[in-house]
This record gives sequence, C-alpha cells and structure tokens, in this order.
Amino acid sequence: MEKIIFNGEIIERSKVNIDIEDRGYQFGDGIYEVIRVYNGTLFTKEEHVNRLYESAEKISIHIPYEKLELIQTLEELVQVNQLKTGIIYLQLTRGSFPRQHGFPKSEVPPVYVAYTREMPIPKVSMDDGVKGLLVEDVRWLRCDIKSLNLLGNILAKQKAAESGCFEAIQHRGEEITEGSSSNVFIVKDHCLITRPATNLILNGITRQVIIKLCQENGISIREEIFTINDLLEADEVFISSTTSEVMPIIQVNDKVISSGTPGEITRKLQHLFQQKIGL
Ligand SMILES: *Cc1c(COP(=O)(O)O)cnc(C)c1O
Repeated sequence: MEKIIFNGEIIERSKVNIDIEDRGYQFGDGIYEVIRVYNGTLFTKEEHVNRLYESAEKISIHIPYEKLELIQTLEELVQVNQLKTGIIYLQLTRGSFPRQHGFPKSEVPPVYVAYTREMPIPKVSMDDGVKGLLVEDVRWLRCDIKSLNLLGNILAKQKAAESGCFEAIQHRGEEITEGSSSNVFIVKDHCLITRPATNLILNGITRQVIIKLCQENGISIREEIFTINDLLEADEVFISSTTSEVMPIIQVNDKVISSGTPGEITRKLQHLFQQKIGL
C-alpha cells in the first residue's frame, strides 16, 4: 500500500483525512515544493527544502520541524514506496480553523502532506523540443512565493494546452516573466539570457543549477529583462523546471525558433545537466 507523510509521520494514504476547513482547501493558504527523484535519490534536496522554509516565512507560516528531520522523512518515504524515477510533492497549509480571512488567532499547527509519484524523464520532448504559447501574465505581485494559489498559472497552462502547446510563456506587457511552472531562457549571439529573480518570478532551483553550470563551463549568461520581440528573434529558447529539466522550445505561437530543432547551447546544457544528475 502506498504511504504518504501526514504531519511528519509516514502512514497509509487511505488513513488520511483532510478537514473541509483546512485553509489550503478554502483559501489556497499554503506553500509547496516538487523534488525530483532520480534512481531513488532526491536531487537538490537542500535547495528545495530551503526554499520551502523561505516561502513559509514570507507568508508567516511556522514549520514545526527541523530541516534535517524533514529531509530524512522524505528520504524514508522514497524508500518505503520504492520510488526510483519520479517526484515528491509536499505542501504545508496554515492549518484548519473556522473560516475567516485573517489568520487564526490561537496557535494552529500547519497541515503538512507529502507523497511520491512515479514520473519518467520526458525524453522524447527533451530530444525533439516543444511549443510555447505567449500568454499575458495576470498573476499577483508575489510570484517569488511557491504558493498553493495557482489560478493564474493554471489558466495560462490550460490556454497553452488548448493551442496544442506544452507551456505558456507569460509576459507582463512587453517583458517576458516565466512559464506557468517553469523559467524561461533565451540565447542570443552565444549568450544566455534569463530574467533576474525578483518578485515577478519564482526563482527555480533548476534555473539556479543552470546558471551555476554556465559559470563553471564558460558559457556566458546574463540575468536581464528581455521582451517578447527578443524571445521571437532569439537563436534558441528553452524552459527549465524540476520535472522538465532543460526543455527546448522550438516554436512560440507561429514563430519557429532555431529552424525547429533544439539549439547547440540548449543541447550542451542538457548534457551538462545529465552529468550533474549523475545518470
Ligand atoms: C516551481 C516553479 C518553477 C520552477 O522551479 P524549479 O525549482 O526549477 O522546479 C518556475 N515557475 C513557477 C511559477 C513555479 O511554480
């Protein structure tokens, strides 16, 4: 039987009951993370757990566990579920309390849930590349928090899917922000460009791994704002995320990018990323 983590304990999934007045259920009042598991090993686990605690702090949720004990329980879960290739999803909500917009006055413990899911590496898409659709970014101004509130992201992704596209590429006016659940990179004249991590994007762990790989391997990279026009005129485009790694974008709306095949620097980074994972 499949096990999950519920408030720090590993138990049977069927034994878990979430209250209808859980603030995550009613308000999306909580935060989450997705961690990749390769060969039964958690990839960049400290980075993800650090970001979880940062997101929690930004919305004043106190996590009543030590980082180390949290990581150990996640690793134990991967073992008992015998997960090889997949993800861990984890979320914390502000807990359960009679519905009111303001925070509960008394001390209410957060509700913490984590589960595993098998998920293959999307090899075909990574080899061939995928399409992106430009979508106006209508989200709030704290996109730096990995919040459970994902309506803007969901609507953008759905729009992309309905156009046969893999991902929405969001923009605020002329400026590209990010995907619905990924960060966006372009290549122009052999230089990589990605938007600086401000309040308008989620600073992806994969994004940070890629920036580090560039610095270690002599690939020039700038963190700079770029526009829709820069994107459409780019030599290469790719997106990055925990589940998609380095995913080539070969078409945006009707514009074919880099002759419809993943570009040279994109390929190089895919290769370096594989080395980093150690597969
Ligand atoms: C999670 C997420 C990303 C990608 O972050 P990774 O840590 O690389 O998975 C990018 N944008 C948004 C909006 C996200 O929620």
